[in-house]
Amino acid sequence: MRRNRVVIKIGHLAARSGEKVMGSIGVPETTIKLPVTLINGNKAGKTVLITGGVHNAEYTGIETAIRLADEIQPDEISGCLILIHPVNTSGFEKRTMSVVAEDGKNLNRIFPGNPNGTEGDKLCHFLATAVLSQIDFYIDLHAGDGYENLTPYVYYLGAAAPEVVEQSKVMAQKVNVRYLVKSFTTTGGVYNYAGSCGIPSILIERGGQGRWSEEEVKLYKADVKNVLRHLAVLEGTVNANEYEQVEIENVIYENASVNGCWYPYKKAGEMIKKGEELGVIKDYFGKVLQSCSAKYDGLILYQVSSLCILKNEAMVVYGEVEN
Ligand SMILES: [Zn+2]
Repeated sequence: MRRNRVVIKIGHLAARSGEKVMGSIGVPETTIKLPVTLINGNKAGKTVLITGGVHNAEYTGIETAIRLADEIQPDEISGCLILIHPVNTSGFEKRTMSVVAEDGKNLNRIFPGNPNGTEGDKLCHFLATAVLSQIDFYIDLHAGDGYENLTPYVYYLGAAAPEVVEQSKVMAQKVNVRYLVKSFTTTGGVYNYAGSCGIPSILIERGGQGRWSEEEVKLYKADVKNVLRHLAVLEGTVNANEYEQVEIENVIYENASVNGCWYPYKKAGEMIKKGEELGVIKDYFGKVLQSCSAKYDGLILYQVSSLCILKNEAMVVYGEVEN
């Protein structure tokens, strides 16, 4: 499918075979303008979507998408690349955490949106109808949010058609991180929704805490390029993974039951033992409001790093290491 594409088009932007086109696309019935790059290769092949900034303060993913859009040229490509950098522009420009500035909604919870809803709903509807409808594969670039510390890992689809799950897993294996997480959510997220449409997809987590560095972006770009080579969209040979990858299973989100001050005792990427205390929430007077203990031996994928913790938010997220 979708071979020998003469022209790729989103909104008013169009790239003919051998062209790269960059520009802002207005989301219908909103004030949102999406920065998009279309790269239409000289040769036939698949179409891949790369997004950064579905969560607007996850800067490593955003900067990686910006760099890839700048660096990759049509003569290196077989097929097409669509890059959106970032997706949540209004959140980026207001420096919110996680949410669209106009309506306070998290784009990764409301997919596929609604053409008659709020700004975020309309943005999701536009992505679902005008973008996801055109793609064969999807790579979503995330990081820890401004208040989250994580160890690099990659999600792949677990609740899609068997061949989609398998293709997603092989894509994840080309990402140079130690940990793989199979995700079973089917609704709400952009990447999960893509899976329900039969599009093999991965979501990479690298960096966080409102920071980014040249070193992280270099690693992140190498991850994406390696997946693109595996998909035969980018020329060049696929690099072997330097890690012996393991799956993280039975992932637990330990939620805060109160607002307060959060004192984690561990770090992302640390191994934990069943029963070990992972952190406490205290009030402003130092009184302990909640204590969090590990339910089993495992590995911490990410945790809140801000002093502020919010009720119903995950304080710490961990899972069991396979075998
Ligand atoms: Zn995210």
